[in-house]
Amino acid sequence: MQRAPDRISFGQQIDLRGAGVKILQKEFSELLKEIKEATTDEAGFNFLDQKGNVAATFPVQKDNVDSYLTSPTSDIEILRGNLSPKYKRGGTKVQYIYEDSVDKILEPSVSPSGKVHVTLASGIQKDYDIVVGADGMRSSIRRLAFKESQDALKSLGQYTSYFTIPYEPEDGTFASWFNAPLGRCILLRPDNAGCTRAYLSIMASDSNRKVLENYHSLSTAEQKKMLRALFEDSGWKTGRVLRGMQASNDFYMQEVAQVKIPTWSTSNGQIVLLGDAGYCPSPISGMGTTLAVVGAYILAGELVTSIRAQIANSQDKMPKKLDFSESARLYEIKMRPFVEKGQAIIPGAPAIANPMTSWGIEVLLRVVGVVSWLSRSRIAKLFSWVGSFFASKEKEWDDKLDRYEFVKR
Ligand SMILES: Cc1cc2nc3c(=O)[nH]c(=O)nc-3n(C[C@H](O)[C@H](O)[C@H](O)COP(=O)(O)OP(=O)(O)OC[C@H]3O[C@@H](n4cnc5c(N)ncnc54)[C@H](O)[C@@H]3O)c2cc1C
Repeated sequence: MQRAPDRISFGQQIDLRGAGVKILQKEFSELLKEIKEATTDEAGFNFLDQKGNVAATFPVQKDNVDSYLTSPTSDIEILRGNLSPKYKRGGTKVQYIYEDSVDKILEPSVSPSGKVHVTLASGIQKDYDIVVGADGMRSSIRRLAFKESQDALKSLGQYTSYFTIPYEPEDGTFASWFNAPLGRCILLRPDNAGCTRAYLSIMASDSNRKVLENYHSLSTAEQKKMLRALFEDSGWKTGRVLRGMQASNDFYMQEVAQVKIPTWSTSNGQIVLLGDAGYCPSPISGMGTTLAVVGAYILAGELVTSIRAQIANSQDKMPKKLDFSESARLYEIKMRPFVEKGQAIIPGAPAIANPMTSWGIEVLLRVVGVVSWLSRSRIAKLFSWVGSFFASKEKEWDDKLDRYEFVKR
């Protein structure tokens, strides 16, 4: 079920890494091929100084499994709007519902049918064996069914807006990261469709916290107006970016936050959270899509395994009542290490990369300059054992992924 009238065909660069890539390799090799053909071809990532000159550069690494150790640009970097249409629609047994959403949920223990009783915004009422809430960071399924998790959204104190502006040759092929005082950052990323994807990010501080925290209740026009006022004296290409923002029709603003809750399923396993709804790692982790893919794979794998076992042990062709508690329990256990790793961000982030003062920006640029130099210079070879240590840890982590048989051979 999708609240929007159709698949959402916009959104900026998202990364696919590690175990997420492995799952596609195994189960959806055609999809992975299509994704690789549609990557943004970003050549790397530059940090700019106050004059707009390159202070540190990180060319893309062609090994997507551990590339985030060496470059913010991943090998598999695709526009969100290009990824969603690539998912094939299910067969005739799958029903898609658009422009609707869940308004009320009754758990099986209190629902007359013994199933999950759902009331949709359109007024339709239905019973389901299992409800999977994959409705994003501000999940309404989480709000309705996980009453003890009302404070699940943990703000990281930053607000980001995404929109598309016309490409200009000066944008080149690298992403450009520009810091301005007061925790402001402008990021420009040329895409593979003749446009430049722009991000305006700002840290909440005493002077702007009230207005930023209120962003959710503002219209798009009001959000743009607020950002114009907050960014107009940022320097570099601010004028062009703000004009582009004004004209953009894909503007999207979001609080940078993580979702942390003790459990992703109700006690009988019949209401389950998946992806950002259960464990959003925030865009700064670059792991949101990977965790959503890994979560979907593990949850589907455990459901198939458990239901097959119940059918095999049943006297009837199909058990009268399916039990979902075991699949939910195993989903929790197997997914938790991936989530903990995906949500682990550098201590102090994102504030550390978005200083409040010019002096702080100077220090940041010196540090990333040294890191960039180390990663490209011969000295890097001296440190290569460190890299291979981390890479082998990554591999160990990915190898923890169970392999499921979805089609009985
Ligand atoms: C419009 C948009 C743009 C994004 N842009 C970026 C980006 O540029 N970079 C980045 O790293 N990440 C971005 N993300 C987040 C990224 O897509 C996710 O972190 C990741 O892919 C995990 O996906 P998800 O399916 O769990 O959540 P999401 O991708 O957030 O998908 C949730 C879906 O649920 C739908 N939905 C929400 N509430 C309801 C409801 N009440 N009823 C029915 N449907 C509902 C939404 O329309 C959406 O399609 C964006 C998300 C959205 C929705």
